Amino acid sequence: MTNRCPGGASEARLTLDLSDIPSMSEERNAARKASMVKIWPEVVHSIIHEAYHSATHLIDSFSPDAGELADGHGWPSDARSAARPYVEKTRVQGGFRTEWSRLNEEFEADDLSGDYESGRVGREQQPPRGFMTIYGGKSPGEDIAEAASWAVVLPILEQPVEGVIPDVSDWKYACTDMQGHTEGGIPPNFVALYTKLNFLRDIGFITDQALEKCAGSIRLEDADGANGFHYFSYSDRTLLTSYTTDFSIQREADAFLISAWGNLNVQSGAKPAVTQLKIWVEDPALPRGYYSIGQCNDFVPRVAASLVAPAMFRRDVMDTRAQSICAYEARVLVTSATTDRIEGSAIIIKAWKFSAPPVPEVAGMPVRVVFTYKR
Ligand SMILES: [Zn+2]
Repeated sequence: MTNRCPGGASEARLTLDLSDIPSMSEERNAARKASMVKIWPEVVHSIIHEAYHSATHLIDSFSPDAGELADGHGWPSDARSAARPYVEKTRVQGGFRTEWSRLNEEFEADDLSGDYESGRVGREQQPPRGFMTIYGGKSPGEDIAEAASWAVVLPILEQPVEGVIPDVSDWKYACTDMQGHTEGGIPPNFVALYTKLNFLRDIGFITDQALEKCAGSIRLEDADGANGFHYFSYSDRTLLTSYTTDFSIQREADAFLISAWGNLNVQSGAKPAVTQLKIWVEDPALPRGYYSIGQCNDFVPRVAASLVAPAMFRRDVMDTRAQSICAYEARVLVTSATTDRIEGSAIIIKAWKFSAPPVPEVAGMPVRVVFTYKR
């Protein structure tokens, strides 16, 4: 155990509690044993936390463009073989920590997460928004290790081994807060952390079961698992309609396009319409995390697109231009992104209606759209 991660067990406490003094009185011996069992979950958590630092280093070492993070020296071939499929399917080109940090920055820009501050220590204060623990808010590396270790330690704490008394009542970790939310959906307080937990699942650090255990009822609206766009009412989250046929995901040169065909009822009858969600992201990376749309991409000079329109949501109704819309205020969240799975949601707050001239669309807003694709 090292002192590098004060969020884990301290070296001083380990030394004190695990030393054995033969002449110790029975009373003191009992006190020592009680003390030992109390640190048991702390030790388990620390070992797992440190193991996730190693796993992060491994992923970074074999990411194609990780620069100085890449340091494959010393990793045996079986470790390389284990890491490769996860690097490939998540497309973390510049490394896991770099992508994780980018994710947090996007959330932070909309106050959905805090920024990293090197002075954060301890574990008994409420974690800032977006982090599993206050110590996780120290750096991307600690954030990864804290989020992953708590997600997997949680079931151990809840099923105490006989004779062992986990005493972590003074520890603050965000799974507890997430489990307190019982209404489904992804509330703003947990958007960042929920997405981070999904990223940990996607990269093979935690299981689906660990994710669900920690997140409780927080999840994307249930769309019966069918691939497609699913429109939900914003207020009560009931499913309004789904477009599951002619649903496709395709890679364009500099963007990721999710689209679906389906008839839309307009005044002149049912008209074929296509819904498109396009997210600009460098080839071959995958869209992941949070994108805030500030204008319809049609109206933005390409050079400014990454700032105000990094994504586009539009619905084009054939032969009925006035029913076609393009979002100019929207939030897009991609919770899961691998070559086998793309999942997320978009909240369309305001949209242009393509009459001549275009006018802001008010009716039916905001709209919540869940998109899900599993190979
Ligand atoms: Zn650490």
